[in-house]
Amino acid sequence: MRENVLSIKERIATAAARSGRAPRDVMLVGVSKFQPLDSLYMALDCGITVFGENRAQERESKAASWTRESAVWHMIGHLQRNKAKRAAELFDCIESVDSLQLASTLDRIMAETRLKVAPYPVMIEVNTSGEESKYGVEPSRFLELVEEISRDCRRLAIDGLMTIGPLEGGERGARESFALLRSLAAEAREKLGLPMRHLSMGMSGDFEIAIEEGSTLVRIGTGIFGARHG
Ligand SMILES: *Cc1c(COP(=O)(O)O)cnc(C)c1O
Repeated sequence: MRENVLSIKERIATAAARSGRAPRDVMLVGVSKFQPLDSLYMALDCGITVFGENRAQERESKAASWTRESAVWHMIGHLQRNKAKRAAELFDCIESVDSLQLASTLDRIMAETRLKVAPYPVMIEVNTSGEESKYGVEPSRFLELVEEISRDCRRLAIDGLMTIGPLEGGERGARESFALLRSLAAEAREKLGLPMRHLSMGMSGDFEIAIEEGSTLVRIGTGIFGARHG
């Protein structure tokens, strides 16, 4: 795993340099879904401090038996509203907000439970590829959604945008998808004055392309942990 992490970090640095940025401008999230706790501990020892999980339930069972120093947890999978409270307790950021209903639920939870003192960080997931299997708001409805969330959900901080690159379409398809996310963030900055700090895009198979297109956060699973168990 140490070699995997080193190699990913080198590739991040090289891709960042190609886009005129420093390696520290790209955050590395280790996607630990379906991985046993021992692998997460090993990843901690290799310097991974932020983990991504796609199910609240799996995160909960890991939290229950966690014995190591605390880490930062990002929710990267589709979140149902009835699991929003649990997710807000278990995660430091929810990257997969894609509806006003979910955002409003999270906002209300923050009001009721005072879970967090500061606004709770979320990202807006956009379906940039148009693939039907994917969650995320459609690009044409993105600006409206962000405007509504920033207006109505004052206890949430929109920390950026997230997308999953297309399954099909090769490098060109991936690049188009990532460039679209970048341009949507620029539009939200310009029209709504929102900071849009993060572009969460890029996984094991396409993170270098994503970084060239402006990614500030890559979500790497198999590239760090190897094949998933289950
Ligand atoms: C599983 C997953 C990843 C990691 O995928 P790899 O190809 O294993 O790097 C990244 N983002 C999301 C949303 C995922 O569900």
